[in-house]
Amino acid sequence: MQRFRSQTRCPPLQGRCWAHAPYLLNLASEQAQLRCQSITVLVDELQRADALGLAAVVLHAGSAGGGDRQEALARGRAALVEVLARAGEGNAAVLLEVTSGAGGHLGSTIPELAALVPRSYPRLPRSVGVCLDLAHLWAAGYDLLRGGWQRALGEVQEHWLCEAPQVIHANDTPVACGSRRDRHVPPGEGALGENLFRGLLHDPRISDTPLVIEIPPGKDNHLVAAALERLRSWRGDTALPPGSRGRGDWAGDADPC
Ligand SMILES: [Zn+2]
Repeated sequence: MQRFRSQTRCPPLQGRCWAHAPYLLNLASEQAQLRCQSITVLVDELQRADALGLAAVVLHAGSAGGGDRQEALARGRAALVEVLARAGEGNAAVLLEVTSGAGGHLGSTIPELAALVPRSYPRLPRSVGVCLDLAHLWAAGYDLLRGGWQRALGEVQEHWLCEAPQVIHANDTPVACGSRRDRHVPPGEGALGENLFRGLLHDPRISDTPLVIEIPPGKDNHLVAAALERLRSWRGDTALPPGSRGRGDWAGDADPC
């Protein structure tokens, strides 16, 4: 732990390391035992994140299953109150991640994700923020090629009272918009495409927002390294190929999908 802390204490890793909570957690479960176990695991994750000096634990809050969605949201919100109380004050934030909506997962829209936040926000023992996953937004019906990004940022500002998400998961995906399927591929290799990522990398509204790639790493992380190299080249390359969609299309189309 000391070695990790010392190696992440300086830029560029300082404040830029996150954990992802286990996917099996369900703070909104109808079954009290599952809900209690999820609370206990998340408290443990947050305290470990504090000890490691991580910026946050990213979380899929849970699923309504086949049950009532509003009741599930209320259970999830109450569970999060308990998590924050038991974990106590700490530097590691909780970041609620927008989901694809598969399997009744809560938080498939940004307003619904905000409904999981305890009502005493922002007076909480530790901060609670929002993580946008591009693949999840797309699968949940945010058409990022036709105004969906504008819509998403607008909803973050309106419902989360902040200018930008705390983290973006910069994944591409091969699935159709609105399909509610959660599949990730390297940036530029899916339905979102190269120009969407070029636009994101030059969008001044998220210039301070860290991007995280969640793709199969390949042997010795070679797929991640290749994706990073590609993103860096797109960030440094301001010229778009002739006939492609320009950055104005990315940022300027206000029509929600
Ligand atoms: Zn993600």
